[in-house]
Amino acid sequence: MSALNQKQFRTAANAREYLEKVRWPNGPVCPHCGGVDRISPMKGKSTRIGTYKCYQCRKPFTVKIGTIFEASHVPMNVWLQAMYLIAGSKKGISSNQLHRTLGVTLKTAWFMSHRIREAMRSNDLTPFGSDGGVVESDETFIGKRDGVTPVANSHSHKMKVLSLIDRNSGNSRSFVIQGLGVKDIAPILDANISREAMLMTDDWSSYRHIGWNFSKHATVNHSAGQYVVPGSSHLHTNTVEGFFSIFKRGMRGVYQHCAKEHLHRYLAEFDFRYSQRAKLGVNDEQRAEKLLVGVKGKRLTYQTTLAA
Ligand SMILES: [Zn+2]
Repeated sequence: MSALNQKQFRTAANAREYLEKVRWPNGPVCPHCGGVDRISPMKGKSTRIGTYKCYQCRKPFTVKIGTIFEASHVPMNVWLQAMYLIAGSKKGISSNQLHRTLGVTLKTAWFMSHRIREAMRSNDLTPFGSDGGVVESDETFIGKRDGVTPVANSHSHKMKVLSLIDRNSGNSRSFVIQGLGVKDIAPILDANISREAMLMTDDWSSYRHIGWNFSKHATVNHSAGQYVVPGSSHLHTNTVEGFFSIFKRGMRGVYQHCAKEHLHRYLAEFDFRYSQRAKLGVNDEQRAEKLLVGVKGKRLTYQTTLAA
């Protein structure tokens, strides 16, 4: 059976029931007042199916309120199909591909995919390496900043990304950065890596001023062509470099033109997939379900023109 033939993908009503089950495992929760008691489904010819009334604050609501689906006219099952495809693809899916596969307009496909990326943004603020494990940190360059002329042998015209990998959990966390100086890197490491962690980086000079913040700091001497510290097979930044190679292949193959204002959302998408893939036994369906948990509080309204 095709994965997209599952019940929740077939009709809007099935999809709504599925979303209710995932978002409200213990019954409906009022998005207005947070109440869980005295909530009843609204019946009546003029009421849309799936509308509930909260008798505490006396307001009606549906499962879509307060999520990326609110105010969207796209049928709920088409949303779930799009989420399944994006969560399950290795390198991502272009808006063009979504448009052709789902039969929505290109513009709608673009809006949907950006909202889904927003849902992929993790709300987990737990510092990496809290268990004293190794956290790799590295930077990479991608694309080109708008309105900047490329300079040969220089990275100044490119966008810059910093990624952290918690080696024990296999999670990645990525950031768009303005530059590679201490002032660009230190606040991110401070906020996202535990003091107990062992920081693993290359020999980029900024890290010399940051590394002492952590229980240990080891460097691999990339400028001397070294990729693993001799005699210490765990001293390398190959994990984060592996993440960058997936990210770059995806961005090159699927998302050719990405404006800087959207880059953080693409990073959220690659972080989500990478971190979920690291969990043993998690299949595409569970990944898509996990994504549904992130739809809350991520309502987006776009004034942006069609791009990326
Ligand atoms: Zn209420």
